[in-house]
Amino acid sequence: MSNKQEYTKQWGEEVFPLLSWFKMDKVRNAKVMVVGAGALGNEVLKNLALFGVGNIVVVDFDEIEYSNLTRSVLFRPEDADKGFFKAKVAAKRLQEINPTINTQAICGDLSKDAGLGVYRRMDVVVGCLDSLKARVLLNRMCFRAGKIWIEGGIGDLEGQVTAYQLNKNCYECSLSQDENIPGDGNTEANRTSCPQIAQGNAARGRVATTPVSASLIGAVQAQEVMKIIHGDDLKSGGFETLVGKMFHYEGKHTQSTLFDFSSYENECISHEYWENIVEIPELSADSTIAEALEFIKKRLKVDSVTINLRNDKFVDFLSSRSSNQKYNTMMPASKIPDFIDAHKELEYLTIADGGLYQHSYEDIDEEFPYPQLTLKQIGIPYLDVLQLTTENGYEYVELSADIKLFQKLFGQ
Ligand SMILES: [Zn+2]
Repeated sequence: MSNKQEYTKQWGEEVFPLLSWFKMDKVRNAKVMVVGAGALGNEVLKNLALFGVGNIVVVDFDEIEYSNLTRSVLFRPEDADKGFFKAKVAAKRLQEINPTINTQAICGDLSKDAGLGVYRRMDVVVGCLDSLKARVLLNRMCFRAGKIWIEGGIGDLEGQVTAYQLNKNCYECSLSQDENIPGDGNTEANRTSCPQIAQGNAARGRVATTPVSASLIGAVQAQEVMKIIHGDDLKSGGFETLVGKMFHYEGKHTQSTLFDFSSYENECISHEYWENIVEIPELSADSTIAEALEFIKKRLKVDSVTINLRNDKFVDFLSSRSSNQKYNTMMPASKIPDFIDAHKELEYLTIADGGLYQHSYEDIDEEFPYPQLTLKQIGIPYLDVLQLTTENGYEYVELSADIKLFQKLFGQ
């Protein structure tokens, strides 16, 4: 036991300092979020744990299935038997690999369950996603938080890695016009793209992957993380990141290419940085709306406050267009499809009978009829940042009481 303790305390001390560029303190203090714990995510996470990256957040809403086991070094058949959450199992296995690091799982959606306050405390974010919609949303979250994100994609024997940074290059701007941007009430984006990359973009959807392409591309992503963690130290040594570039690997002929990839259009709605965020230590996602509005008014010294729901609307009821029958929902809009699935009569109404009308709120102020609901109940995650409209224009506040849920990572 004492040998083990001795060994883990010195994780990497005999090895990594041999690398001229490696800074032990930077790596131990680093905070990295990996979004998506599938084939790629497993590889990225494994590498980060081996390097001793000190604080790792894993985000994934999915449960482990048998089909995942062929490409996921962190998962076991028992995990699939029990249908455990990918994020939770991955976080636990990372700590088995390297007990000196801190990990935290968020078993949920990258924007509806992971607060922007988590993003803004990261050094870098890694996207290991398999859908275009999720990538667009992650791009927006990272830009709001002012963080670089490293995107990886794999398909068959191919894969690519790019890093995106506000004011330099943008995932959404790189999409071609024939790629549909998902609707979230906020998506009338103008999309333009170089025709020559459109073909590459088509490969970003859900496609067959192999353990080999996952480990190759996941390794390149992890390497990018290490560079960004070291920041200016590595820049002065001639290291370059993949911001504005794409690394492409093609396995049939064992070829790799690096090319410029820096689409950035002025009209794109993703280019939004939430500045001057005010941390309110009394404010939590468990605060009621009435309490939250009071805390905010007091702290910002304003008379009027509207909370803009930017990631999810709140739906209080659905009604049948033909019969006016009403169904109370009281949940975020993103949960409505599951609600409809669970109610057979509603499933019928959505396709026949004129359909369903969804009564929802995007703006929450003193007029909101359910002031006793908590922010969590209307769809706002822990440690999120709220965008407000006040008499001064847009202002931003953080639900900083929730930092207690992330104690190990953020050290408070
Ligand atoms: Zn853009």
